[in-house]
Amino acid sequence: MSYIYSESVHLSSSKDPVTIGRKGNQIYVSSPWNREYEIITGMCEKCQHPYQIGKSCSTCIIWDNIEYVRVVGAYIPKKRQTAGQNISLTDDLWNAKGDPMLAELLGCVLGVFVRHQYPKLLTSQIVTAVPAKTPPSHADYMAEAFCRVTGNKDLRNDLLVREGDTKLWRLGWEDRWKTANEEFQVSNQLAINGESVLIIDDILTNGATLERCASLLKKSGASKVFGAVLGRTI
Ligand SMILES: [Zn+2]
Repeated sequence: MSYIYSESVHLSSSKDPVTIGRKGNQIYVSSPWNREYEIITGMCEKCQHPYQIGKSCSTCIIWDNIEYVRVVGAYIPKKRQTAGQNISLTDDLWNAKGDPMLAELLGCVLGVFVRHQYPKLLTSQIVTAVPAKTPPSHADYMAEAFCRVTGNKDLRNDLLVREGDTKLWRLGWEDRWKTANEEFQVSNQLAINGESVLIIDDILTNGATLERCASLLKKSGASKVFGAVLGRTI
């Protein structure tokens, strides 16, 4: 099968460039990584929920500040995995939390994917990552690689801060929103004058984190906020 699109990308982990591209419904990463990530077919126009069709769904109807999010593939929690499912993206997203090289690779994958499938997102003037309590985090490495691949020159990882370190994915729906509101704040470095912002993150579950970040960015002067994420929890 031939590539629908592909790019040659330099990673700090290997001397030779790596090819990242799409064949059929998969993103392929060449040797030495040899990955195949299945692309999610999002039905919801706003959050790419795979089963709910329309302009918004039960997940994203309460997002007030995010325009929309684009996602590469599915993140399948262990308890929902079934035999035969392609879980390579899920595994890599999990492992990238402690592996900057893998986070860099995933940032490049997201960059190539967005460049070819959703180039409109790249008109955002500022790119930022969801902040971690102790930066740099895997999302910072992803955003850095994303900007390298897409040629965005305005990476601003100093806009927001995270004051707590709660594992939001371990919480129930309501606690997740409450905690996201308490933990994320604007930093002193914030200066947005009507620019649009693209937020990079690894996993989207119900969007509490992205929505909180987007609301802070908009209150601080961002005109519009979009999201680009690697995995959508299904
Ligand atoms: Zn939705």
